[in-house]
Amino acid sequence: MHSLPERSLIDIRDIFAQRRTTFSFEFFPPKSAAGAEDLFHHITELEQLRPTFVSVTYGAGGSTRQLTHDLVVRIKTSTALDPMPHLTCVGHSEADIDQILERYAAAGINKILALRGDMPKNWDHAALGDPHKDFPHASDLVRAIKRFNDAGRHPHSRRGFAIGIAGFPEGHPDTPNRLMELDRLKAKVDQGADFIVTQLFFNNRDFYDFRERCDLAGIRIPSIAGIMPITSIGGMRKMAELALGARYPAPLIRAVNRAGGDDDAVRRVGVHWATEQCRDLLDNRVAGIHLYTLNKSTATREIYATLGVKDSTGLL
Ligand SMILES: Cc1cc2nc3c(=O)[nH]c(=O)nc-3n(C[C@H](O)[C@H](O)[C@H](O)COP(=O)(O)OP(=O)(O)OC[C@H]3O[C@@H](n4cnc5c(N)ncnc54)[C@H](O)[C@@H]3O)c2cc1C
Repeated sequence: MHSLPERSLIDIRDIFAQRRTTFSFEFFPPKSAAGAEDLFHHITELEQLRPTFVSVTYGAGGSTRQLTHDLVVRIKTSTALDPMPHLTCVGHSEADIDQILERYAAAGINKILALRGDMPKNWDHAALGDPHKDFPHASDLVRAIKRFNDAGRHPHSRRGFAIGIAGFPEGHPDTPNRLMELDRLKAKVDQGADFIVTQLFFNNRDFYDFRERCDLAGIRIPSIAGIMPITSIGGMRKMAELALGARYPAPLIRAVNRAGGDDDAVRRVGVHWATEQCRDLLDNRVAGIHLYTLNKSTATREIYATLGVKDSTGLL
């Protein structure tokens, strides 16, 4: 067993147990070397904000399997940041998942966001078979990670990986039945999930109501709020497509419209809206704030600056 930097030994479960707020930033793995260098420039800037952890997304059906792994390991070994990989199970076999978990454990990664993922658009059913065969739902992936943990297979953590899951304050588009949805969220918790990271939302009331509904359903794990600052009209439209179901409140649309297509003004409106969401969430004792950075640092740095702090320690 090789030794790892001291920061890597911090377990997010202990942070939640102490009721301390977490701050995290999300990245996606760039497809080109130039994109990776640009991302690392922004990562260096964001490192100064001292987030609790950063997360790296996973392409549909494992399409970024190696890229996600490499970016996670590079962040782990070359920065002071604590990376959490996203892992989706659609299209993966049990053996695939086992191998991925082993590699992350060996690299000293101690938390994973366990997701089902969506069907990759070009999945070849005839050649590749049923993509949901081994893991129909995220709860099956949570169970597999828990089994890995319980078998003591994580060489750097006695408790193994902390397990995050997705939550949808405004509901998941595949589940029109909102009561059933909470039962399914509860099933992931019962399989061993430790915390929830939510889909982005623009009205905090949706998050507070989700938190209360979780409580009523007996879901007692912390919910980290997903916040995405709008930085352009194009980005807003793209996100509306990716985060299907996310509601854009009328006052936000009005504010964006007032900017009249001026790119810089739209960005200021979006960052202001996200900053107000963060301030209100902190006032309402949120367990964590997860900022979707879209691989850029400016909006996130502006949010911190407008909240009046130098880094995440000032927000505690
Ligand atoms: C914070 C966050 C990060 C994300 N990161 C990524 C990423 O990196 N890569 C990526 O590809 N996608 C990502 N996604 C998107 C996510 O993969 C999709 O939204 C996916 O459709 C649902 O994933 P899930 O983990 O919520 O799945 P599940 O919890 O399995 O739920 C999916 C659907 O199945 C239903 N369901 C669950 N259990 C059952 C059951 N027993 N019987 C019948 N139906 C059931 C649920 O109600 C829901 O409608 C992310 C989402 C969030 C919120």
